[in-house]
Amino acid sequence: MSKNRIVVIKIGTKVITSSDKSLDKALLKGLIAQISDILDKGLKVIVVTSGAIGAGMGLLGMKKRPVKTEELQAAASIGQSRLMHLYSDYFKERGYLTGQILLTQEDFNDRNRYLNIKKTIETLLSHKAVPVINENDTVSTEEIKCGDNDRLSSLVSDLCRVDMLMLLTDVDGLLDEKYSVINLVDGMSSRITKLARESLCEFGTGGMASKLESIGKATASGIECVIANGKTKNIIADIIDGKPVGTRFKSSGMKLLAKKRWIAFSSKPRGSIYVDSGAREALSNKNRSLLASGIVGLDGQFVMGDVVRITDKSFREFARGLTNYSSSELSKIKGLKTADIRNVLGRKAPDEVIHKDNLVIL
Ligand code: GLU
Repeated sequence: MSKNRIVVIKIGTKVITSSDKSLDKALLKGLIAQISDILDKGLKVIVVTSGAIGAGMGLLGMKKRPVKTEELQAAASIGQSRLMHLYSDYFKERGYLTGQILLTQEDFNDRNRYLNIKKTIETLLSHKAVPVINENDTVSTEEIKCGDNDRLSSLVSDLCRVDMLMLLTDVDGLLDEKYSVINLVDGMSSRITKLARESLCEFGTGGMASKLESIGKATASGIECVIANGKTKNIIADIIDGKPVGTRFKSSGMKLLAKKRWIAFSSKPRGSIYVDSGAREALSNKNRSLLASGIVGLDGQFVMGDVVRITDKSFREFARGLTNYSSSELSKIKGLKTADIRNVLGRKAPDEVIHKDNLVIL
């Protein structure tokens, strides 16, 4: 990998937790030494780390993962500062500063916040500091689930247009039907998805399926991804050197515009618009905008500027876009010809419900 490339390295809880559930400091230190080696060579690295809840549980002397959300959040709050302290100390030993960033899905939904995160990360990288990112577990209830940092790491990878996403976990990669590691995946297929689902049963963690979903989004944004065992010696350097370790997922090479990538992958849709078959055809195959006349129904509450799903009449999502109308306006004008919209709403309004420049076919 050439210089000036940016790599996101996601470190899973199981990688940095010992069998007694405490933080494996030696392992974390070893990983940070490996990351520092590649930083020394001129590569830029963004770390997405899990382990706050695990670290907090260890410090609180909890033997079992709590069930109550507030207990998980308290553990994350205690563990996150401990975790960050270690990252900061170990990177400092190698001459690198760290910058903590805690994010939730809400930060990705709002385009201004989204662009601010990007600027902050770019500025940290320009100072040769290492952004260390985790979910903001103490405020984000639905996010405290195994696998969420896989998604977070792919959102960050896409946001920063990185060259590679490394998901470090405690398995050697995606296993085939005979339990051997698949070294290269060139495009997602039903076989690959099935293998990931089966490994879900085997490990009982939900890990591989959520990884595959995140990798699907990242590779579709042109980012190469690797799943590998973070406990294996020298793993980061081996991946960077292109050695056959872990499972490598080729990027699809598709280059969507930044705004379209945000619409398609990063923001969370606020509702759905159901369209007829004519509109589906015009959107999917003729590069047209969505007009009110093709809309047969809608679901959810949204305002102008929100991202919405576009589905066919059988509720199959095939596109996403930024709506020019709120859900209450749309319920009044759905099915109408453009010329009649003004009479109903009593004001001049855009011709398109979703302009083709703000529309992504999935
Ligand atoms: N944010 C959680 C933690 O740091 C982990 C979430 C995950 O691993 O997906 O403990």
